Amino acid sequence: MSIKFGVVGAGGIGKTHIERLIERVAGAEVTAIADINVAGTKEFLKEKNYKVNVYETDTELIADPNVDAVVVASWGPAHAETILQAIKANKYVFSEKPLATTAEDCQKILDAEMKQGKRLVQVGFMRRFDEGYIQLKEAIDSNLIGELLMVNAQHFNPTVPDSYTTDMAVTDTLIHEIDVLRWLVNDEYDNVQVSFPKQTSRKFGHLKDPQIVRFETKTGMILEVQVFVNTQYGYDIQCQVIGENGVLDLPEFSTVRLRQDFKVSTGISEGWNRFTKSYDVEFQAFVDSIQQRELPDFPSAWDGYVAAVTADACVKAQTSKKQEKVDIPEKPEFYK
Ligand code: NAP
Repeated sequence: MSIKFGVVGAGGIGKTHIERLIERVAGAEVTAIADINVAGTKEFLKEKNYKVNVYETDTELIADPNVDAVVVASWGPAHAETILQAIKANKYVFSEKPLATTAEDCQKILDAEMKQGKRLVQVGFMRRFDEGYIQLKEAIDSNLIGELLMVNAQHFNPTVPDSYTTDMAVTDTLIHEIDVLRWLVNDEYDNVQVSFPKQTSRKFGHLKDPQIVRFETKTGMILEVQVFVNTQYGYDIQCQVIGENGVLDLPEFSTVRLRQDFKVSTGISEGWNRFTKSYDVEFQAFVDSIQQRELPDFPSAWDGYVAAVTADACVKAQTSKKQEKVDIPEKPEFYK
């Protein structure tokens, strides 16, 4: 039996999720879409020749008995409201990151899910489904490099819009590293500090760029992430894990190698299409787990909450320039 999806927010990533659910994810169909831009959504559906009900509000979509699971791909501040309604209706939810824009709203989502008594929410931290990160994780977990000591990571974007601000380097961009690094190294953050090296001339008044975010984990590892969102040259994600017995590197994004004009070259991704396959895999995992009536240990609402609390500490550290504590309470039994 296929899972009937309702997608809230048919913007940049929402449209790609609609396409993947209709065309590539086995056992899924899209029966409804809610977007405040109803005319634009209908235009998109016409172009793609998809037959899907269109609603103006998430409330109508969630109430539709022909919707089993809800994909939340609207802008961040709208996520919490939609997710809380969907949980109340006992529907599964795939939420794009962030789960919610405040730790307080994330807590409300945890409370609502625990009240329902079953895991309903998966958060779109797709890097956990990326082949390269999975290889890195398997190497770490097989003890290939022994005790872990440090991580050096980079999140580079070619460019960002004028509306992008210093804190968005954390809440929009670093949020992926915040999730994937604690998963990779099997440790939790203790504190964080942010520093600003010499700045690019392409920064705006409201954007400091680049930034260096330095986490210390509970066991004393140092994880350093360089966030640089105006590199011009590409979307470049790097991660190097240093252990007592060796060093592991995240495999490079790969394209065919071109020999031409006395040069050998390979491509660098232009944006989050770097993770196209991972989005397919994360949705397939979501569908498979719904069909088995159980959400396995994939990015949960708890992981969304931890990311929000950690992001808050990072944003605080951006202005205080001091070491800020990452204060995560004890993980509830429900999420263990
Ligand atoms: P976007 O292009 O602005 O799309 C958001 C869409 O949702 C727009 O069509 C917007 O309509 C609509 N919308 C906003 N509030 C709504 C509401 N309350 N109900 C229904 N529709 C609503 O943004 P995006 O880039 O697709 O990002 C969407 C989400 O995905 C964000 O949370 C973002 O952080 C996340 N994201 C994740 C990744 C990843 O790598 N996992 C990558 C990109 C984005 P209007 O345009 O009319 O406002």
